[in-house]
Amino acid sequence: MDRARVSLALRRALALRCPRCGSGRLFTGLVRMPARCPVCGLLLEREAGYFIGAIYINYGLTVGLALAGYFLLEAWLAPSPGWQVAIWGAFVVLFPLWSFRYSKALWLALDHLVDPTHAGGEPGSGGADGPP
Ligand SMILES: [Zn+2]
Repeated sequence: MDRARVSLALRRALALRCPRCGSGRLFTGLVRMPARCPVCGLLLEREAGYFIGAIYINYGLTVGLALAGYFLLEAWLAPSPGWQVAIWGAFVVLFPLWSFRYSKALWLALDHLVDPTHAGGEPGSGGADGPP
């Protein structure tokens, strides 16, 4: 896995674009994801539970940022424990809502990096991953 491929996958994920073609939008609404990429036909909704990995990504980002933020704020301003709880309590509730779409996009990008052959079949064909 070379750096250029990883960089491209990350850029596409952060732009909320298809990991394979980079053109198709991953979301048609605030949280609605089409079953396939509208441009290349990559299967996005693969199976029930597929996006559990996105939940782990979202959780890891939230906890990592909250812990780093807590200790940085403690070292910098040393606010009272009540303020710390208020700030980071609000953060751990609101940040995952904001990062939900990015977590799913990062999960798709990671999956595509690990297994780019999992193409999801040709557009409109039902493909290898389509219904039997
Ligand atoms: Zn695509």
